Amino acid sequence: MKLVVQVRLLPTAEQAAALEATLRACNDAANFASVTAFTTGDRREYALRKHTYREVKARGLGAQPAQHVIKKVADAYTTLKANARAGNLGPQGCARRARAESKPVTFRADAAQPFDDRCLSWDHTGHTVSIWTTTGRLKNVAFVGSLDQLKMLALYRKGESDLVCRDGMWFLYATCEISDVPVTEPDGFVGVDLGIANIATTSDGARHCGKGLNAVRHRNRELRRRLQAKATKSAKRLLKKRRRREARFAADTNHRIAKRIVTEAERTGRGIALEDLGGIRDRVRLRKPQRVTLHSWSFHQLGSFIAYKAARHGVAVIHVDPAYTSQACSACGHVDKANRPSQATFSCTSCGFAEHADVNAARNIASRGAAGWAVSHAADDAA
Ligand SMILES: [Zn+2]
Repeated sequence: MKLVVQVRLLPTAEQAAALEATLRACNDAANFASVTAFTTGDRREYALRKHTYREVKARGLGAQPAQHVIKKVADAYTTLKANARAGNLGPQGCARRARAESKPVTFRADAAQPFDDRCLSWDHTGHTVSIWTTTGRLKNVAFVGSLDQLKMLALYRKGESDLVCRDGMWFLYATCEISDVPVTEPDGFVGVDLGIANIATTSDGARHCGKGLNAVRHRNRELRRRLQAKATKSAKRLLKKRRRREARFAADTNHRIAKRIVTEAERTGRGIALEDLGGIRDRVRLRKPQRVTLHSWSFHQLGSFIAYKAARHGVAVIHVDPAYTSQACSACGHVDKANRPSQATFSCTSCGFAEHADVNAARNIASRGAAGWAVSHAADDAA
């Protein structure tokens, strides 16, 4: 399994200036190579290298960075072509697609740049990297990350890392390769219900609430309203910065929740049952003030964090159909809208079972998970 670990660099002012100049030089060179690719029509890496390698290298880039720049350009054209073919740019002949295909791909001055082991080396005890720049090798650039991230990097980092600058902060996105852990046969399932007030609720009754996250989102929404009225360039920049910060905060919250859930499942020898999230936006109906907090990508992100953390620990994961999980009684199976008198409470009109609404839903998800697992593994046994 491959995954990307992100660490933040803490360069001195001088080091930051060198990194900035390096990214700019790489992306200037990429723009040059991109124009060449566009005019010659040679967009594959090997052909493009013939046309551009000498010039790109002569711009102060070494052999390795020059090759990475050319590969980056070739990859960008491959992606463009794939997007066009998949219809992501609109149908053939439409204005948007024609516009995208009528000019060379361009790279921002701070677009990400890959570094291989010859251009970037890691010191995992000192928490520093040494990195190639256009003004020479920078040594002792400090980096920080969570304990988990640092451990993962030290054990599994392999191949290239991307140097990225966002909102004036520097990051390395490092690829880690982890060998697959065999899935342990689960003894029961933890059901996970995803929601708004409680981001995730388990069938054990653990509620992971998104209080801090929802507060940040509401604050940003207010700010957005004020800034959008202004519509100046600096207002737009500030908005973008806030949105990114919100996304980072959401990712951090999701990581922590995913970790707690997977740890608990592993400790108790169980698998994890998740809702199949297709169409979550249609399914969740909310009062207006809550609507803003619903970001389906955030649910998908939490689901994928749980899935990959589970895979790392050999914990089984199953996705179940979420239909009626909130209206069905987890004790007797009776389905009724009236079972759910309010957002937070579940009270069965048939058997009288009462529970927090999200916990009841999570229990339904857990039992569907167990049933689904039994069915799919019966098929395995038969085969
Ligand atoms: Zn009941």
